[in-house]
Amino acid sequence: MSCEPWPSALAINHASRTLELVWDGAPAALAHAALRASCRCAHCESARRAGGPALPMAPDLALARIEVLGASGLQLFFSDGHHRGIYPWPYLYQLAYERPMS
Ligand SMILES: [Zn+2]
Repeated sequence: MSCEPWPSALAINHASRTLELVWDGAPAALAHAALRASCRCAHCESARRAGGPALPMAPDLALARIEVLGASGLQLFFSDGHHRGIYPWPYLYQLAYERPMS
C-alpha cells in the first residue's frame, strides 16, 4: 500500500502558527518556524553548509501564504519575505510524519 501523493487537506493555522495537513486520513501539524528552518532553497542550503545557524529567525515568524504547485509540491511564503523554498510532497510528508513516504 502506498501513500496518497499529496495531502487531502492543507491549511494554515495562524493562531497556533502551524501548517495543518491530513494525509491518508492522519492529521499532522508542522510549526511555521520548523518549516522555515527546513527550507531547501539554495540560499538556506548554503547557509547551513557554512555551519552557522541557517538564518536568523524573527520570533514572530509566520507562514503567510501557501501555493500548491500541482504534483511538484508546495511553495511557502513566510512573513520575513522568504519564499524561495519549494517543498516537494515527499519532503513535507517526511517532515510531518517523521518517516519516508511509502
Ligand atoms: Zn530558503
